[in-house]
Amino acid sequence: MRAGERFDVIVVGAGVVGSSIAMALAERSIRTLAVDIDLSGRLSSSEKNAGGVRATWWQRVNILLCRASIEYYERFRDELGFRQKGYLWLYNDETYASALEHIPLQRELGQAIEALTPAQVNRQVPEIDKLDGIAGATFSPNDGLINPNLLKEHYRARALKLGAQFLDRAYVVAIETGASGVRLEAWQSDEPLTDAGLVRMMTQDGPGEAETGRMIDLSADSIVVAGGAWSPAAMKLLGIRNWTEPVRRQICLVDNRVTNLGAYGMIVDTSGVYFHNEGAHILAGYSPPDEPPGYHFNYDGEPFFENEIWPRLYARMSCMERLRHVTGWAGLYEVSPDRSAIIGRAAKRVYEAHSFSGRGVMQSYGTGQALADLIADGKYGALDASDLSRDRFDRGAQVWEELHI
Ligand SMILES: Cc1cc2nc3c(=O)[nH]c(=O)nc-3n(C[C@H](O)[C@H](O)[C@H](O)COP(=O)(O)OP(=O)(O)OC[C@H]3O[C@@H](n4cnc5c(N)ncnc54)[C@H](O)[C@@H]3O)c2cc1C
Repeated sequence: MRAGERFDVIVVGAGVVGSSIAMALAERSIRTLAVDIDLSGRLSSSEKNAGGVRATWWQRVNILLCRASIEYYERFRDELGFRQKGYLWLYNDETYASALEHIPLQRELGQAIEALTPAQVNRQVPEIDKLDGIAGATFSPNDGLINPNLLKEHYRARALKLGAQFLDRAYVVAIETGASGVRLEAWQSDEPLTDAGLVRMMTQDGPGEAETGRMIDLSADSIVVAGGAWSPAAMKLLGIRNWTEPVRRQICLVDNRVTNLGAYGMIVDTSGVYFHNEGAHILAGYSPPDEPPGYHFNYDGEPFFENEIWPRLYARMSCMERLRHVTGWAGLYEVSPDRSAIIGRAAKRVYEAHSFSGRGVMQSYGTGQALADLIADGKYGALDASDLSRDRFDRGAQVWEELHI
């Protein structure tokens, strides 16, 4: 970056979403800078997720954004570690009817999905041998799993090749919009931040006394807020209303020496536990409904496995009797009031893409393309995300999604 260089667009946050936006802007020859306090993403949700990708949602706009992403991931299948082995979703009596109601829309938009009886579930996945409480299931073969880190690096590599720039170790602390553009102040760390320093930054909304750095000025015609769970702080700098809460989600890796689930994609149980094969292990997650909002990153460890994961897995599959906890981690969901992302123009010169509510990896490509069209042309192109603009909350036009996992 040259001193005093002015950009067309500055993207605040370079997780999987900000990186996709940077790529899409660069594809349209828009001079772009993406700024992040930690490009390695140690606390970012893009590093902490389960890698699930599906287009079988309940709302048209969410299906379309995911569908566009999947079409792209199919083109780079090996590079992105995209394993299209499907989503198998088990429902109880309370939830099955709603799941079935949405199949016609999913099919209308080109998504393959079938309903299964409990006996068919057992035939398809013989490891699921305890069928109590399963009213039925859906299986969508074109959904699957991706390596989110490879995806983010893919976006960045392509963005860089097309001329976008990425600024590391810089935290945006002030944003001022005016008639001639947007001025940002960022605090840039002299050294790579320690883990503790990064946690301090990201939980206290700025550098603590222990961190040394200097202020830098940045300027652009427009900005995009793509700060994941930290987007509320950026919106506050802009004086724009925040709708979103960060909520901790935990995942663990377990060792099961007798079972290999490698033939299947994501499986979601009636109990809310979701799991899939991850290398030599099984990755399993569960999101307690009473988790309080906040910037909490502590992983509960063995008790999380013992209390939340193992009982649910073993209640469904005998082969899970002798599981061993290996490791785990916690990351943040950024949850909006209707559990759909907030995407679009937030104010003059200000765009936003955040609050993905557990869907940011699978919507990242579609979001980047849609938003870049809006910025370049002043209107959406092939992908119209206008249903996800923030004014839907004022208009009472929520885009409600069940938060399954
Ligand atoms: C346990 C778990 C499981 C999940 N499973 C899935 C799944 O299966 N499929 C799926 O699609 N999604 C899943 N998600 C959600 C998904 O991970 C997120 O929606 C997605 O990663 C959001 O990407 P992002 O780029 O918006 O945010 P992030 O990856 O969090 O990136 C935001 C970046 O912005 C930077 N930043 C923020 N503010 C500033 C600032 N002021 N200055 C400088 N930098 C700033 C941060 O450092 C960070 O790097 C899961 C999430 C969790 C926690």
